[in-house]
Amino acid sequence: MPRLRRYRGYSLRLAVTAFILLPCMLLAGFAAWLGLAAVERQGATRMQEDIELVTRAMTLPLSHALANRELAGVESVLLSAGRIGLVYGVYVYDEQGRRIASTGTPRAAMPSDQVVQLATGRERGGDFEDLGDEEVYSYFQPLTDAGGRIIGLLQVTRRGSDFEDYLSELRAWTVAGAVLLGLLLTGVIFLGHHRAVGRHVSRMERAMDRVAGGDLDHRIGTSGPLELRALSGSINRMLDGVVSTHRELVQRRAAEITLKEQLAQSEKLAAVGQLAAGVAHELGTPLATVDASAQRGLRHDALDDPLRRAFERIRGEVARMEHIVRQLMDFARRNPLRRRPEHANRLVQCALSQLAPDLERSDTVIETPGESDGDGPALDVDRIRVEQALVNLVRNAMQATPRGRVRISWFDDDEGRGFIVEDDGPGIPESVRPHLFEPFYTTKTVGEGTGLGLSVVHAIAEAHGGRISVDESPLGGARFRLLLNTSGHRA
Ligand code: ADP
Repeated sequence: MPRLRRYRGYSLRLAVTAFILLPCMLLAGFAAWLGLAAVERQGATRMQEDIELVTRAMTLPLSHALANRELAGVESVLLSAGRIGLVYGVYVYDEQGRRIASTGTPRAAMPSDQVVQLATGRERGGDFEDLGDEEVYSYFQPLTDAGGRIIGLLQVTRRGSDFEDYLSELRAWTVAGAVLLGLLLTGVIFLGHHRAVGRHVSRMERAMDRVAGGDLDHRIGTSGPLELRALSGSINRMLDGVVSTHRELVQRRAAEITLKEQLAQSEKLAAVGQLAAGVAHELGTPLATVDASAQRGLRHDALDDPLRRAFERIRGEVARMEHIVRQLMDFARRNPLRRRPEHANRLVQCALSQLAPDLERSDTVIETPGESDGDGPALDVDRIRVEQALVNLVRNAMQATPRGRVRISWFDDDEGRGFIVEDDGPGIPESVRPHLFEPFYTTKTVGEGTGLGLSVVHAIAEAHGGRISVDESPLGGARFRLLLNTSGHRA
């Protein structure tokens, strides 16, 4: 799990090893050690018992042969005893301790005095003896005649290494078994840990990484043991809380930025408006003078044609300049609004009647709300100025789509009330939108547009405490939304 490397401390796996696996292994090792000691003891006893049994089996025929002085009988019993694999040496002594017959290794034979001592002691039993380079185990059995008189001693010997071999084999098997058990236990505990806890914890970790990587809607799946499910559920609830707070913050920040931009725009427009008002005011009088002079000139009877055309052109251009001055004055107008409740439909109809000459010349189809929509909501507005805003918006839309469709509608929603003017023209590129409401911004040729229409609409929306915004229309072109009465301000 490379992700864990960034933390200091021990892993869950190490904890399981140290707190569960290691104590279990130590306990198992201790139990194996105790068991082995018991088995060792039992094994050694059994090996001694084996020799004891062999000795007992030989006692009767040997006693009989010895009592009858039949040496051949003694030899034959020894011969058959020598064939038994576990017997290392067999020795038969007479009552004086002399060895009268033996088979197997002669090394373990006893000196006569000891034999007499053992035989007269009438005790049978076994003992280990060190022969220098090896150890042997001997079992002694006194031999008696029918009357119970001691007539000799039988000694049966087994190699000490038999015991050693047996014990080291036993130990080797025990150690191998313990190692195998340890490995199996480790495997089982690691696998068990992975299935019960590890994989669920890794899944939780991966899920948290995804959330941290930006996938805010991703959540931890709730599976696995109850405790981990409860933990995943708590983390998910915490993530829900964190994410919703984060989203709220982002929204609030975006709203703040928009508000700041609007404020900056308003301040800019106010400054330009002041300038425009001054210019318009100063131009009004000279323009009126020029127009009056041209009018007087035209009244002369002896006016030749070129001069008449010149005076008429002067008047035409003066009219155009006056139109611009009027727009400038509209834009710069800061006098208080004369608000009155007006139905949306009436405002639309009045604006359309002002546009009658344009409509006559144009092939654009104007769509307005049907009769079923009634008069529409009542708006508390300055009628003259709202009509002017609608005229400007509809005129722009008509110019954008000379043979297309322009739709005028009203809205009454959570935000407030106002109008929507949209068309199926080319629309407005995203890059242009920030400049749209700036005075004198136009894409039209000289004489066709002044770049003041939307600035005037902006000023009117602001004066009403509303807003003008633009986006894409479902018709395919631009959609202007003119908010006039915010929800706190209703007619
Ligand atoms: P003008 O119409 O005199 O150019 P405006 O302020 O009314 O000035 O409009 C500014 C610019 O916005 C226009 O030149 C035009 O490029 C663009 N515009 C306005 N309305 C639309 C519309 N409905 N579709 C496409 N472009 C528009």
